[in-house]
Amino acid sequence: MNERAIRVALVGIGKIARDQHIPAIAGNPNLELAATVSPGSGGVDGVPHYTSLEEMLAHESGVDAVALCSPPQVRYGLAAAAIAARRHVFLEKPPGGTLSEVAVLNAQANAAGVTLFASWHSRFAAGVEPARTWLADRTVLRATITWREDVRHWHPGQDWIWEAGGLGVFDPGINALSIVTHILPNPLLLEQASLSLPANRDAPIAAALSLRDSAGAPVSMDLDWRQTGPQSWDIEVETDAGTLKLSQGGAVLDLPGGTRRDEDREYAGLYACFVELVRAGKSDVDVTPLRLVADAFLRGRRTIVEAFED
Ligand code: NAP
Repeated sequence: MNERAIRVALVGIGKIARDQHIPAIAGNPNLELAATVSPGSGGVDGVPHYTSLEEMLAHESGVDAVALCSPPQVRYGLAAAAIAARRHVFLEKPPGGTLSEVAVLNAQANAAGVTLFASWHSRFAAGVEPARTWLADRTVLRATITWREDVRHWHPGQDWIWEAGGLGVFDPGINALSIVTHILPNPLLLEQASLSLPANRDAPIAAALSLRDSAGAPVSMDLDWRQTGPQSWDIEVETDAGTLKLSQGGAVLDLPGGTRRDEDREYAGLYACFVELVRAGKSDVDVTPLRLVADAFLRGRRTIVEAFED
């Protein structure tokens, strides 16, 4: 028997909602875009649009699920309201502004009998699952993460990203952590961190992390938003059987045997996973990448650097 499509309301119609969520929902026959919510931006032709989640919930009794694409600082309030209204919830990354928020949401979703999905889109990049499989029975000797991009190009005018709770350079950096925590066979511990904060901002523009896996292999992470010219989203893992390299954010995988680059299906993969979770009555709430970012903020040394103007 064919099940009917899950009716999704998209909340926060900004860059990622337009670039990825709207096309991914449209491309999945098990999903239907039933409403949009955004306080200041418009919606999608032919789809009911609201300026607040409360208003949408009051009018759209047929909506089954909400996907939250707002900045992380307001994620908890929106998710808690959706769960209280017994809607399934898809959280963009990071899943909350704090770890406690995500723990409370998880408990609320369990109690309400709805699905909570803490999505990590980079885990669905084409090279990531084969990298995880290749590393599963190898000994990791060391790993290096280099995530250097031009914030003026990728985040123009996004004030929330520089405010407390906006994560700064960890907004893209958490994507790298979502990949390494998925592909490395052992869990990671943060040893040291240094955070560079522009004099006029609350969030770091650069960071250097020293981590170690539970078997002792060192993992270094270099994050910088001041990169101009070629951009780097690279992870190199040295093992007893040679070096693995994931580049372009996980899209391209180099193994000792050759290179592989498959079609980009990050958001198609995320939404397929969400459909499965909803239909199975399950949640998927992995906070490991956010926990490592929190560890860096807990243990990191701060240096004040030149003020940043957009
Ligand atoms: P963005 O372009 O600034 O969009 C954020 C949207 O959230 C804005 O359109 C804003 O609405 C809306 N919003 C703010 N407060 C809200 C509230 N209380 N209720 C409902 N909507 C609210 O940011 P973005 O780049 O799309 O990023 C959003 C999230 O996706 C972040 O967590 C980010 O880490 C994640 N993400 C972004 C990317 C990327 O490439 N940009 C990639 C993957 C994940 P108005 O416009 O109506 O004011």
